[in-house]
Amino acid sequence: MSKYMIDHGKYVIHRTRFVTDQCAHKQIIIEDQQFLVSAAEYEGLIALGYNLCIHCH
Ligand SMILES: [Zn+2]
Repeated sequence: MSKYMIDHGKYVIHRTRFVTDQCAHKQIIIEDQQFLVSAAEYEGLIALGYNLCIHCH
């Protein structure tokens, strides 16, 4: 399972391994960050309407 970095401010899911500068991940506030590894959590966020980042997916 990949690791993901979740931007809860913008509702975007980044793939930690493939994050680029274009992801503007350094602008994600710490409070809005969450790292997750479980497929269930990932599916849950998708179901909530989170978007996959186009730069690292
Ligand atoms: Zn990204």
